[in-house]
Amino acid sequence: MKIAIVGTGYVGLVSGTCFAETGITVTCVDIDQKKIDDLKQGIIPIYEPGLENMVKNNVEKNRLFFSTNLEESIVDCEAVFIAVGTPPDDDGSADLQYVLAVADEIGRYMQDYLVIATKSTVPIKTAEKVREKVSNALKQRNVDLEFDVASNPEFLKEGAAINDFLKPDRIVIGTDSERAEKLMTRLYKPFLLNGHPIIFMDITSAEMTKYAANSMLATKISFMNDIANLCEVVGADVNMVRRGIGSDTRIGNKFIYPGAGYGGSCFPKDVKALIKTGDEYNRSLEILKAVELVNDNQKGVLPMKIKSHFGNNLKGKKIGIWGLSFKPHTDDMREAPSLRIIEELLNEGVEVRAYDPVAQQEAKRILGDKIEYCNDKYEALIDTHGLVVITEWPEFRVLNYKILEKLMLEKVIFDGRNIYDSDELLEYGFTYYSIGRQPVKP
Ligand code: NAD
Repeated sequence: MKIAIVGTGYVGLVSGTCFAETGITVTCVDIDQKKIDDLKQGIIPIYEPGLENMVKNNVEKNRLFFSTNLEESIVDCEAVFIAVGTPPDDDGSADLQYVLAVADEIGRYMQDYLVIATKSTVPIKTAEKVREKVSNALKQRNVDLEFDVASNPEFLKEGAAINDFLKPDRIVIGTDSERAEKLMTRLYKPFLLNGHPIIFMDITSAEMTKYAANSMLATKISFMNDIANLCEVVGADVNMVRRGIGSDTRIGNKFIYPGAGYGGSCFPKDVKALIKTGDEYNRSLEILKAVELVNDNQKGVLPMKIKSHFGNNLKGKKIGIWGLSFKPHTDDMREAPSLRIIEELLNEGVEVRAYDPVAQQEAKRILGDKIEYCNDKYEALIDTHGLVVITEWPEFRVLNYKILEKLMLEKVIFDGRNIYDSDELLEYGFTYYSIGRQPVKP
């Protein structure tokens, strides 16, 4: 069996590699020549644990190929997955130009029956637009070829993408064709030996499912951030509250950690896009509008605590930052809270020293030389007036107080992820601010 994945980013590369792992022949297509050249040489464009070895292994076994040529790549394929980006347009709606450009190209070059499945996160009715694009391109060629469209939203998490793809909680497929259903079942069966379901539904419901899932997760985060901020002023400890509510199986203990605000390539844009869809259909999504507002405010919480600690005068202060990526185990910086926090600190005249285990190159691409990039977490603390923890990488979890004391000019920590123990910090003479808990001061 042969398939092609068009768009070789986080989703396309991981999906293509995992499909190849099951013995299928996969070509990952991209318009980015450098990305494809690099991949052909075994250079992986993103940091994703375990991906490099898996790509190498499947390339060696002649099951995984990379190409910039869609026409050649779809020859003899039974399915093509569209996995290109859908960034937000100026008005917040998903920009479909890349998805539809690929659909048009598929229509121009396909030679036989194909299932065209959209893996990109796309708004309601996009599959219909894809169908129309392909049909129009076929008409222009004066050929009459059968094809089916399907919506196959992707639920993988960056940082755990391979495990998520190989052992998914569920696969969602929206299609109105039995033939496409059969093909998708064949493709996905190897990943569902753990008994988890493949859920077939109509196309619109599948498109909606992805947005509803991400919006629900973003809602949990914003809800908890709102509660955390209230905990702080009423004298409650959000860690206790979280444990108290999370042990209720109706609520569950996942995604109820307060922090510095959600970021990444998905939640911010998907929440925006669903709000836009609601507005278009005259069904204003009030909860999601609040989710977005709370998140935006939350990204300002750490800068506010820092300013307030230093008496609203940060000129000449040097701050060390641990963690730049929007979450651990990825180098993705899209909409990362660190960007907003750094911007606010720089505006106040702060000198920023930063360390991230994998995202520094990406940070350099975005921030240039506005901040100092350090080789390890301790170098980032030399002569600093405070440490700000933004991303909860495992290597930040245990503090070496002796080293911190030696390097830092002031013993103050701003913890955006609640990873430290207030009593311990107090014992070592640190002033400690976290989210939704009382600050401690020696
Ligand atoms: P990405 O930006 O990492 O990759 C997109 C790739 O598509 C790029 O390499 C780009 O060069 C390529 N591309 C653009 N136009 C092309 C064309 N005409 N032909 C071939 N390639 C083209 O994006 P991503 O993070 O992989 O996300 C892709 C989609 O999947 C988005 O809709 C996103 O919302 C969704 N999604 C992402 C995640 C995630 O964790 N990143 C998870 C689930 C769903």
